[in-house]
Amino acid sequence: MTATRLVFLGPPGAGKGTQADLVADSLGIPHISTGDILREAMEKKTDLGGRAGRYVEGGDLVPDEIVLSLVEERTGREDCAGGFVLDGFPRTVAQAEGLDGILAERGEALDAVILLDVGDEAIISRLAQRRVCPACGALYSLDGDPPRQDGVCDKCGARLEARVDDDPATVKKRLEVYRRDTLPVVEYYESEGLLRRVGGEGDVEGVFSSILEVLKTVKR
Ligand code: AMP
Repeated sequence: MTATRLVFLGPPGAGKGTQADLVADSLGIPHISTGDILREAMEKKTDLGGRAGRYVEGGDLVPDEIVLSLVEERTGREDCAGGFVLDGFPRTVAQAEGLDGILAERGEALDAVILLDVGDEAIISRLAQRRVCPACGALYSLDGDPPRQDGVCDKCGARLEARVDDDPATVKKRLEVYRRDTLPVVEYYESEGLLRRVGGEGDVEGVFSSILEVLKTVKR
């Protein structure tokens, strides 16, 4: 079986979660979001949640060793035999190097890194409009893709929330962190010849079809 191992990069609010979900579904492989794993751990008050909470709430990065060990464990599970779509990881060059090391030990490697390009204005307005379902993780946008009933998840009926780190001050911080720590990751993958840039400002379907076009050119 050929496996497909992909990474989605891009600033907060670029649409990584939405697009990674669509791509993972279309390829029949897991979508692994380190942000979702951390938020779930915080919600369930696990040991991981306790160690990560203050970083996530403040818009800071969780230390590399914590995130690397969770990614090593998650990508080593059986459901990743056909590959995976990583979303929100790696966010530092140390994480990118760590991921290369984990995969190399298994005789594996990444196939492509998709960078969703979105300007600051679009990011700020998208994050202000974002609502998430705390129960099932479904994502909504109050202007682009609202729930059928105000404030209620279409899929499971739970009450929708804004993310704690989507308030304007924390968004500003997250954008700074992205520029400082994650833009070097873009350069890292560019120099490895893995980076594919996709414009992320169109509607969900348009961006998804651009990604599918790009994936056709990726050797697996
Ligand atoms: P996200 O849902 O990807 O926007 O992530 C939300 C928050 O979780 C981030 O602002 C970080 O605090 C934390 N986080 C998620 N992924 C990582 C990562 N790869 N490295 C460090 N922190 C992370």
